[in-house]
Amino acid sequence: MKSALDSLQLLRRHKVVGGELVLTSVDFFVDWARKSSIWPLTFGLACCAIEMMAAYASRYDFDRLGVFPRPTPRQADLLIISGTVVKKMAPAIETLYNQMPEPRFVISMGACSNCGGPYYDSYSVCKGIDKVIPVDIYIPGCPPRPEALQTAVFALQKKIDRYWDAGKRVANPSKPTNEVLKEINVAALKARDA
Ligand code: SF4
Repeated sequence: MKSALDSLQLLRRHKVVGGELVLTSVDFFVDWARKSSIWPLTFGLACCAIEMMAAYASRYDFDRLGVFPRPTPRQADLLIISGTVVKKMAPAIETLYNQMPEPRFVISMGACSNCGGPYYDSYSVCKGIDKVIPVDIYIPGCPPRPEALQTAVFALQKKIDRYWDAGKRVANPSKPTNEVLKEINVAALKARDA
């Protein structure tokens, strides 16, 4: 029977006397472990953070995806920027990002962290967190629902799957493809209309 791992086409099965031998690469297992245990930093900035907290609660239950919030940047590999980033806060976010071990990933959650959102015209608001740190996945919406964050985590898992290629770190494994962006948009629109 075909397993989920087979469908990734990274396993080679060989029939041997008495059973089967399965070969794969260390890279595959490292990426598999990494994508199955994404630990975000416990960190929220404004109203979007409430949606993020809802995603950790029982209905969406991020624990089942291996997503456990960690209270220190040194044990976290994901930074979810959920809320309005004021210019005074930006250097602190940069420090936290720099304290995270590599490889580290960033999800920008909501219009505020993507581009300033409703406060775009404010003198004190940063016009996008990507002016401060690199962003892997952007989630549109004000506020995006937990489903949208969940879809972003799935998109990040897909990205981590391709993080290593034949022993070499892929410099820019992917910008999210149009397909992934469409999935996130559809999840956000469904949530809005629900
Ligand atoms: S995007 Fe909307 S919900 Fe999120 S922090 Fe900004 S104003 Fe609040």
